Amino acid sequence: MNAHDSEKVIGTLEQQGYARVQEEDAAGLILYNTCSIRDKAEQKVFHRLNEYKKLQGEGKKFAVLGCVAQQEGEKIFEKAPYVSMVAGSASYRNLPEMLRRLEAGEERITGLDDRQTDLTFETEFTARSNPHRGYITIIEGCDKFCAYCVVPYTRGKERSRTAASVLVEAKKMVDLGFTEIQFLGQNVNSYRDPSGRMSFAELLVAVGELPGIRRVRFTTSHPRDFTRDIVQAIDDTPTLCDHIHLPVQSGSSAVLKAMSREYTREWYLERMSWIKAAKRDISITSDMIVGFPGETDADFEETITLVGEVKYDAVFAFKFSPRPNTPAVTMADSIPDELKSERLRILMDRQREIQREHYGRHLGEMQEVMVESYNPSRNQVVGRSSQNKTVNFSTAQIAQPPIGSYLSVRITQTLPNCLVGEAIADAEALPFVALQRVADFVVLN
Ligand code: SAH
Ligand code: SF4
Repeated sequence: MNAHDSEKVIGTLEQQGYARVQEEDAAGLILYNTCSIRDKAEQKVFHRLNEYKKLQGEGKKFAVLGCVAQQEGEKIFEKAPYVSMVAGSASYRNLPEMLRRLEAGEERITGLDDRQTDLTFETEFTARSNPHRGYITIIEGCDKFCAYCVVPYTRGKERSRTAASVLVEAKKMVDLGFTEIQFLGQNVNSYRDPSGRMSFAELLVAVGELPGIRRVRFTTSHPRDFTRDIVQAIDDTPTLCDHIHLPVQSGSSAVLKAMSREYTREWYLERMSWIKAAKRDISITSDMIVGFPGETDADFEETITLVGEVKYDAVFAFKFSPRPNTPAVTMADSIPDELKSERLRILMDRQREIQREHYGRHLGEMQEVMVESYNPSRNQVVGRSSQNKTVNFSTAQIAQPPIGSYLSVRITQTLPNCLVGEAIADAEALPFVALQRVADFVVLN
């Protein structure tokens, strides 16, 4: 999401007449976009700003953007007086005006007071870095206030764009040649069309049905707002990718309660059963936090049994990191760092075993792969499947495919983190049935 924010900020700057340069030395203005979701983000930012200090004599100007800017606010001017602008993401729509003030010589410009806004940052000047896959933020902010998380404090209140404006942007992107669109939001499926015209699932289908679109993804979904019609939409619409990222955070209902996630293990597993009952083989991925204050060995064991039960296709696991201003900072029973590390290792080892076995289901399948890069040392092409898995494949039977093209690849080997295969033909020829469960595929053959 931060990377896409940067694309929008860069587009806005270019629209204002700025030109992008590759090296800091060549820049007149340096903008530093920051994230503070985990670790000691603010320390890293101040360390980096210190490095900029030596550049100030060259007449350069500096701006700090993003979550650390929002969190630290005017303290940044005190610690780094050579910074001229500090703005959180909720203020980006005011950037043109803030840039004009910067050019007029104002020395301390802030964009910190917009977290209660109902407005989103919509711009037609997004500088998308990938010409094939493009992001659209459909919902900003978060109102859920999980006990460990800074997002509601740094990105402000939850607010959605209208379905009409999302569709206009998606259509323009398709006209420009984008074939994959990814919807973004802290809780993308909490989307509520302000005009009341479309549900989240209906919006997914509407974009998936645009002529020329090949893939639609969305991230991150929240279990509390996860509804069955999302699974139905994926089943019914071949262009909607067969992948759902639905972070559980913990397998223990007691820890989930302490985290204020407002669902239980059983409730989450019910959503898993909806996804698993789909006609298509929908891959499921999750985020997990280990070492939340008060997490016992028994709680952690419940996380381990949950990953075994769900059989995720990937898990992104993090050690709990106390974040400023969040309720979890003051909670009792903090877990020593060594124990957090140990639990992280156990979880990742278990997940690796699961992936080693679970990816085996793809052996022999034909998959549609979008080409992303080349690995000349292995003479392989690197691409991504609809399920968002990396596929490394050889192209003995066809010419080197261009980046962004789609191919049919037969999977000949499965590894814990990727699939290996052989390209056999153009994906245009790939029937939808091949994207369904391997069992269906075999029967239909
Ligand atoms: N809105 C999404 C997640 C957004 S943050 C959701 O609710 O699922 C991305 C991930 O960072 C989270 O899923 C969580 O696993 C992790 N995370 C957030 N705050 C954290 C913290 N304080 N310590 C460790 N991990 C954290
Ligand atoms: Fe953070 Fe996600 Fe919880 Fe919102 S729902 S507070 S973004 S973890």
